[in-house]
Amino acid sequence: MCAGSIRVSPKSLLISPVPRSADLQRKASRARWGTASFPERFWSKVDKSGDCWIWKGARHRRTGYGCARGPDGSQTQAHRVAFLLTKGPIPTGALVRHTCDVRLCVKPDHLLSGTHSENMRDRDERDRTPRGSALNHPPQKGERNHAAKLTNEIVRAVRAMRSAGIPCREIDRRLGLTYGHSWLITRRKIWNHID
Ligand SMILES: [Zn+2]
Repeated sequence: MCAGSIRVSPKSLLISPVPRSADLQRKASRARWGTASFPERFWSKVDKSGDCWIWKGARHRRTGYGCARGPDGSQTQAHRVAFLLTKGPIPTGALVRHTCDVRLCVKPDHLLSGTHSENMRDRDERDRTPRGSALNHPPQKGERNHAAKLTNEIVRAVRAMRSAGIPCREIDRRLGLTYGHSWLITRRKIWNHID
């Protein structure tokens, strides 16, 4: 080793990891809130003066639900955090529903966990969704779907014509179908549930 060479410790060559933004946000939030616990911070943003407890923090522009950070720092809905803090973990895939229909409400008594279909049924029962809304008519398979132009009979006719050797293009023309439709039907890419 020649004189004057500098010994570099291998450790100093390592680049220190860049803090993730979640870490930075947590640090900023700690600085802002000092020693307040997560639940204290959460409930400090809630107006409990009325029957419904209204989230005063950020609000999702499109959905109208309150936006909050969960205990792990992840962005979620305020009423889900309220549920988590008071009733425990939310089952995987479950929604937290409002019994009061106030989307900014985080009152635990007004929250239930349930599946999306339960939520829709609830909504239908209360008849909150305006009539004619797409939410009242979730897409359904086949003939019950009002948007579908084809009937079961046409599907069967297509299959019968195809097995009689009539080309798909000709079937489309004869039945007035969109080009390629009979091919999709015979290849069972669509309407496969019809026997
Ligand atoms: Zn409520």
